[in-house]
Amino acid sequence: MSISGSAAIAGVFGWPIAHSLSPRLHGHWLSVHAIDGAYVPFAVRPRALPAALRALPILGLRGVNLTIPHKVAASSHMAALTPAARRIGAVNTVTVDTDGGLIGDNTDAYGFIASLQDGGWSPSPSPAVVLGAGGAARAVCTALWQAGVGPIRLSNRTNERAVALAAHFSDIAAREGSPSPAIEVVPWHHRDAALADAMLLVNATSLGMVGNPALTIDIAKLPDDATVTDIVYTPLTTDLLQAASARGLRTVDGLGMLLHQARPGFRAWFAVDPEVTPALRAAVLNDA
Ligand code: NAP
Repeated sequence: MSISGSAAIAGVFGWPIAHSLSPRLHGHWLSVHAIDGAYVPFAVRPRALPAALRALPILGLRGVNLTIPHKVAASSHMAALTPAARRIGAVNTVTVDTDGGLIGDNTDAYGFIASLQDGGWSPSPSPAVVLGAGGAARAVCTALWQAGVGPIRLSNRTNERAVALAAHFSDIAAREGSPSPAIEVVPWHHRDAALADAMLLVNATSLGMVGNPALTIDIAKLPDDATVTDIVYTPLTTDLLQAASARGLRTVDGLGMLLHQARPGFRAWFAVDPEVTPALRAAVLNDA
């Protein structure tokens, strides 16, 4: 790949950054669209984040993605936040506007819904069960709220975190003047029972990920036309997705969310709307 003196440059800030799949992902799209541009991984220590963000317009970068541990800390350094970034309380995509101001967006909710839709699911005002109350669960609940799915039955090992997450959404809705999402907190030991009449089950915990304990859940109560999705993507087919497939349920793996969440940033920085294709999945998986 060669770039000219007027190449468009974007990248990703993280600490550590070596594991990031984003350079491979954006690199694939840059190459497919023969764009005069580059997407660069930057190892940015937490204390250096404010200076690194200030440097974006100075260096002429179009913007960056943010990954662990910068997503929450970055919010206070943005000139403006999108509604999704405000609702989720974290920024994963920064765009430098024409005045050099930083616009903070969060595309995880978009990526989550787009991936589900790619898998044949469509939103309806019916019950959904979300497991987890960390950063990923925030994005998932935001996405379901925006898509009009509900009630959301939220269950987390540490119940107080689920209660706090539900309260966060009520506060945001009150501040926005919009109706609160219907979130019902379900004790972790009642998660099997919560599946009765749920049309969607989302694992937004880190359970089932390589190196972590398995997720224990009995999906017998899910209706036959329910969809099951796992946002864990290592392994691609988790035990949960295997059990759901064995029951003949629709399943959607976690890689699609990772790929789709990258699209709005690429579009903003490189002025091309890229597609999530089997070739992209293969390119990213080769590096996983
Ligand atoms: P996080 O903020 O650290 O939250 C972890 C969640 O997992 C919490 O709800 C935690 O419950 C739960 N958990 C961890 N160990 C548990 C255990 N032994 N038993 C029961 N629950 C347990 O992490 P995150 O950022 O939300 O990420 C969660 C997962 O999503 C990770 O695997 C991450 O790689 C994946 N992810 C995927 C995408 C994608 O694009 N596909 C995007 C973001 C994240 P407690 O509150 O009780 O600790």
